[in-house]
Amino acid sequence: MKGPTDVKLYTGAQMPIVGLGTWKSEPGKVKDAVKKAIDVGYRHLDCAYVYQNETEVGQGIQEKIKEGAVKREDLFVVSKLWSTFHEKSKVKGACQKTLSDLKLDYLDLYLVHWPTGFKAGDALFPTDEEGLVIQSDTHFLDTWEGMEELVDAGLVKAIGVSNFNHDQLEQLLNKPGLKHKPAVHQFECHPYLTQKKLIDYCQSKGIAVTAYSPLGSPDRPWAKPEDPSLLEEAKIKEIAAKYNKTSAQVLIRFHIQRNVIVIPKSVTPARIEENFQVFDFELSPEDMEAIFSFDRAWRVCALSSAKKHKDYPFNAEF
Ligand code: NAP
Repeated sequence: MKGPTDVKLYTGAQMPIVGLGTWKSEPGKVKDAVKKAIDVGYRHLDCAYVYQNETEVGQGIQEKIKEGAVKREDLFVVSKLWSTFHEKSKVKGACQKTLSDLKLDYLDLYLVHWPTGFKAGDALFPTDEEGLVIQSDTHFLDTWEGMEELVDAGLVKAIGVSNFNHDQLEQLLNKPGLKHKPAVHQFECHPYLTQKKLIDYCQSKGIAVTAYSPLGSPDRPWAKPEDPSLLEEAKIKEIAAKYNKTSAQVLIRFHIQRNVIVIPKSVTPARIEENFQVFDFELSPEDMEAIFSFDRAWRVCALSSAKKHKDYPFNAEF
């Protein structure tokens, strides 16, 4: 076994360093993906209300628990508060809905999915005539108080954020009366967006980092043929061949060696297994440097429909 298999949170919990992503995992496939993942050793599942598949993820978890393959306490289940529930009074109901869909009585970690609050209502992305998202008058510092109440009520073991920039995270850490510090920050990270500054900042504050879209999210709905492709990069393929590994395994291993948690998504059984075979090799410092050299500030998830939102995160340097 090379390198860590868990990252310790400031709460004392051990968070498995590789988890299964579930964005875009169709309801008809995700139950089997979750079951396969548990069979091959994954103990961390990354979910979200907005992925609209938590019911099926929950079925997969339940079936594995019933079979005796795993106990609830062996799993680390993450979900995220969607932006239409940012009013402090809506946070608990949103979390309870996720818990009921997942058929769990607690989450290991609940994240504020984006710093941007959207107009409350049935539409997940309420938009105006220009196609831009309609904001709410909420602020993430108030939303955070709702998140803190979840910890105190025992619905979640830890809370964190996602897609916050450095200034927003700092505002949160400096919030007067802060009761529970974020345990984890989840944001996009891969060789085209290496996030050195944001990772250093989080780790210096005792906040663990989770990297999303580690393979460059080839199934993102807005992919264009001219976009760069991490899995197709000749240099990554060359490095992978040297270790007798695949490009995906190198892209996942890159995070483990930075002590960064990573959540590749797949609904393909062979890939789910492949993506977990990342603890038996170690990238050399030279290969890590070569991978860092791909950095080009390229994002999968720019949330452009919220680019005029008062709390849009990606105009800041980091
Ligand atoms: P990703 O994990 O970078 O890539 C997923 C894609 O890669 C799928 O098309 C998958 O195909 C394919 N794939 C998986 N393993 C592969 C392998 N070994 N070889 C070749 N192709 C492979 O993309 P992502 O879904 O954007 O990110 C991962 C997870 O991060 C998400 O699922 C979600 O849980 C989380 N996330 C969070 C946020 C946030 O705002 N917090 C945003 C984005 C993502 P198949 O499934 O068809 O096998």
